[in-house]
Amino acid sequence: MNTITKHYIDGTFVESHGTEVMDIIKPTNRQVIGRVTLGDEQDTQQAIVSAKSAFVSFGRTTKEERTKILRRLHEAASARIDDLTAAMVEEYGGVVRFAGLIVRSGVNAFSAAETALRELPLTRNWGQTSVTLEPVGVAGLITAWNANALFICLKLASAVAAGCTVVVKPSEMSSLQTQVLVEALHEADLPKGLLNVVTGRGNVVGAELVRNPDVAKISFTGSVGVGKSIMRDGAETMKRITLELGGKSPTIMLADAVLDQAIPSALVMAFLNSGQACAAGTRLLVPKSRLDQVKRAIVDSMSGFPVGDPADPRTAVGPMVSQKQYEQVQSYIRKGIEEGAEVLVGGEGPPQGFEAGYFVKPTVFVNVTNHMTIAREEIFGPVLSVITYDTEDDAIRIANDSQYGLHAAVLGTDLDRARRVASQIRAGRVVINNMTDDPQAPWGGFKYSGVGREYGPYGIEAFLEPKAILA
Ligand code: NAD
Repeated sequence: MNTITKHYIDGTFVESHGTEVMDIIKPTNRQVIGRVTLGDEQDTQQAIVSAKSAFVSFGRTTKEERTKILRRLHEAASARIDDLTAAMVEEYGGVVRFAGLIVRSGVNAFSAAETALRELPLTRNWGQTSVTLEPVGVAGLITAWNANALFICLKLASAVAAGCTVVVKPSEMSSLQTQVLVEALHEADLPKGLLNVVTGRGNVVGAELVRNPDVAKISFTGSVGVGKSIMRDGAETMKRITLELGGKSPTIMLADAVLDQAIPSALVMAFLNSGQACAAGTRLLVPKSRLDQVKRAIVDSMSGFPVGDPADPRTAVGPMVSQKQYEQVQSYIRKGIEEGAEVLVGGEGPPQGFEAGYFVKPTVFVNVTNHMTIAREEIFGPVLSVITYDTEDDAIRIANDSQYGLHAAVLGTDLDRARRVASQIRAGRVVINNMTDDPQAPWGGFKYSGVGREYGPYGIEAFLEPKAILA
């Protein structure tokens, strides 16, 4: 049984002032595997004081000094990759094949930020004018549970590259992972107060960060509802705000797609992180004339997406993170059936033999129209809606007919055609044929999927303010 009672403030682990104790429940069997003491406003204020004091000198560091710190962070996090992956699998049931990628991507965020910082001009001069990009100040970093370690590393890397000090409010549902990560980062021998971490509830620790006048910037990953409240409440103290929110990402299968490549690729994107991924491709748009073939190909491909123990590398779909998430997925599956969609595979209830945990059946609906609830709202589970289209323009219109615009995919053999379609989709990132990544490319959403961008120079700029001196 893991018991976590401390926060990380001013370079040391300190006992929580907050007293609420929360159980950590293992999603594969609903057993209590740990307890965490949650922080309160006083813990948060203490962390902000520490970050504010550290900013006085850290805010004036040079590029070279910050690149050295980023390298130390990279080394320190690299040393605990296996422990971090194991904690993710244990704590939220992340399937090991995905959790491993997420952790590596988080660790690599430090070296990617170092590369981006080297190439980012922080000063420009012309005539009698000089412009410098200055760190914005103390940053509050608030993360979602579904890739908590990655979000902490990514936001911290960009903030450090910019010269900001931080207070992290990790998801309270990720306390074990946070503990392993913070122990690792402690070994980077950071200037005291540069990194502070207070685990607690969003409406307590998160709300204090958002309202506190000594926090200049909030970088948030989470739901649209909380993102809206942060924007509203942050206005009071003129916070700079980055919001990474939800999605309902379209995957457009073009008429020339080869099914035995396109369908497995579409299913990988739909069931990413057991469907609990902001970028999950949960609307599959297919030509009407190919629907029957697509249905057969989906049924045939499902054996490649087994439900099971997330620690088993063969498992593609693990449990949902919590009872609440399990019930949310079930209610959307019911809603899909009520609204007239047809279950092609999966359906309501847990898969046979997996009743002890929060497992759901990976589900694919056909006969879905884009105005049905399952095509409009983010389900955050392994539920895919197949929607048919007549023409390419029709496909683009349906893809863009969403309040979200985070991610999209185009599947087809003619790459010029795929790129032409991709250029017309209103989303922050569009991949062609496979879920690929580039740590220097921006990540973030159009429309309700968010405000601002992360990764590479775009992520660092989000923690900077331009300042001009005119002689
Ligand atoms: P959530 O909004 O419930 O919580 C996110 C974080 O906000 C948590 O740390 C929570 O404690 C905190 N929070 C809650 N209320 C708060 C408040 N009033 N003030 C400040 N902080 C508060 O989201 P979640 O359930 O943890 O994550 C799932 C959501 O995150 C999904 O919508 C998903 O799409 C989104 N997400 C987006 C991205 C992206 O990069 N765009 C990545 C992953 C997840």
